[in-house]
Amino acid sequence: MRAVGLHADVIVTVSRAYQTTCTLVRSGNEALCVDSPVFPDELEVLPAIAEQAGFGVVGLLATHADWDHLLGRYAFGEAPLGCAETTAAFLVGHPGTAQRELRAFDEELYVERPAPLSLGGRVDIQALPVPGHCGIGVQELELHPADGHTQDGMAVWVPWARVLMAGDYLSPIEIPMLSGTGSAGAYLATLARLEPLVDQADHVVPGHGAPLDGARAAAILREDRAYVEDLMARGAEAKLPLARRSGAQRKVHAANCERVG
Ligand SMILES: [Zn+2]
Repeated sequence: MRAVGLHADVIVTVSRAYQTTCTLVRSGNEALCVDSPVFPDELEVLPAIAEQAGFGVVGLLATHADWDHLLGRYAFGEAPLGCAETTAAFLVGHPGTAQRELRAFDEELYVERPAPLSLGGRVDIQALPVPGHCGIGVQELELHPADGHTQDGMAVWVPWARVLMAGDYLSPIEIPMLSGTGSAGAYLATLARLEPLVDQADHVVPGHGAPLDGARAAAILREDRAYVEDLMARGAEAKLPLARRSGAQRKVHAANCERVG
């Protein structure tokens, strides 16, 4: 698993599965783990990466309720999980969904885990008001609504490091994906909300794919907006972004067409 330092207080790891990113953010003695890697060995090594860098992880954040972003408990078992109110509502309202999807992935790839995924109930999940702030050490993270990919979620802005954790937006490897609960209109509204943050960002961490500098992320934002607008206007005829036209991305496109059709 790759680990990259973006700032003295920000380390990003990129999983071998879906290039899912996990970001460690620190202020003073406290650090938070945002999203998660996927494979057991990656989760196992994460506490050592944090410790070596002097990041004392006291809590987890999840940008949204998709299972591949929720595995931080495997690395930091005792840590409370914070997420947007919309995400908490989804997790409480759909108990077992993340576990079921994780199990399907594990069965497909013959992956063994030390234990089933425990997300805890209402008590263990901290619902954060979004838009809003989340205190860490002597600083505050900014939380911005980021729905559209799914019906829930948030993007996290680290003001002192000028880093944006975008959730499942602005990916260099994945086209905009409207999941079962997603919406194209909400997706465009989220891109508009993220744009001023991207313009100020030194780095953008997409949910999937390596971290980007601000200029590259801004270019991807423009491509993604053009794609979603084209998708709404022309459905299946919509042009995929030039560098994201693999067979897998065409399947995502076909699913998006059903979603808007
Ligand atoms: Zn994802």
